[in-house]
Amino acid sequence: MTRPGESILEVSDLVVEFDGFRALDRLSFVLYANVLTVVIGPNGAGKTTFLDVITGRTRAHGGSVRFLGRDITELADYRIARLGMARKFQAPTVFPDLSVRDNLRVAAAPVKGLWSALRGRLTPATRAAIDEALAVTGLGALAARPAAALSHGQRQWLEIGMALATQPRLLLLDEPIAGMTGEEVDRTAELLQEIARRRSVLVIEHDMSFVRRIAQRVCVFHQGRQLVEGSFERISADERVREVYLGVEAS
Ligand code: ADP
Ligand code: MG
Repeated sequence: MTRPGESILEVSDLVVEFDGFRALDRLSFVLYANVLTVVIGPNGAGKTTFLDVITGRTRAHGGSVRFLGRDITELADYRIARLGMARKFQAPTVFPDLSVRDNLRVAAAPVKGLWSALRGRLTPATRAAIDEALAVTGLGALAARPAAALSHGQRQWLEIGMALATQPRLLLLDEPIAGMTGEEVDRTAELLQEIARRRSVLVIEHDMSFVRRIAQRVCVFHQGRQLVEGSFERISADERVREVYLGVEAS
């Protein structure tokens, strides 16, 4: 397939073991800049572990990770984040009593700590990052509301906005539509496509109709490796992919 983007992330022979069990088994993977890529694969394939390693949350036992041409395999998570990698977690990370805008402000602030972030002067860059996050997520009208008042979907968008407010080069999302209504899913598809025009986006997802809608490229993980990658049409016609999913359904 054609590869319009330069590679932004290169993973080679990554190994992660938990008590002798290989969650990642010499995984190799390349992410191209500005190509909205979705990683799929059955439960236990190693998708979340993969995100944990590239974000510095889990240490690799072997292999390497390069981000923006730099070896980040041994870097601490906060240093990787500073290089421009942001992740939206599945578990809620918003401050419920703070307004939508203040949540974004805390996320965007270059300083550590809640109170210094809220008290410090807003730099033009921070203000622009907050405004961009409000615009992209469509939460502008709710900016003054406490996060606790948001619907489930709106809260997910706020969390995407908080990741975006750090102005990342690469945005990572693990199952972003879990628990959403159909309308919220539609809005999330638009939102991710909008973000992907300016930044690199990697999504982990298992809802195939959603994958078909948003993915410009799909990578299938299985047993800690990448099994196949390509367009949605290509991977859904691939016999190995069918076997992996049928095998899971049958067991
Ligand atoms: P996925 O996100 O694709 O469903 P995971 O990356 O969460 O898969 O898990 C891959 C495998 O590693 C699974 O078999 C899981 O049980 C195992 N695993 C993940 N995290 C841990 C951990 N902290 N301790 C032990 N086993 C783990
Ligand atoms: Mg997972």
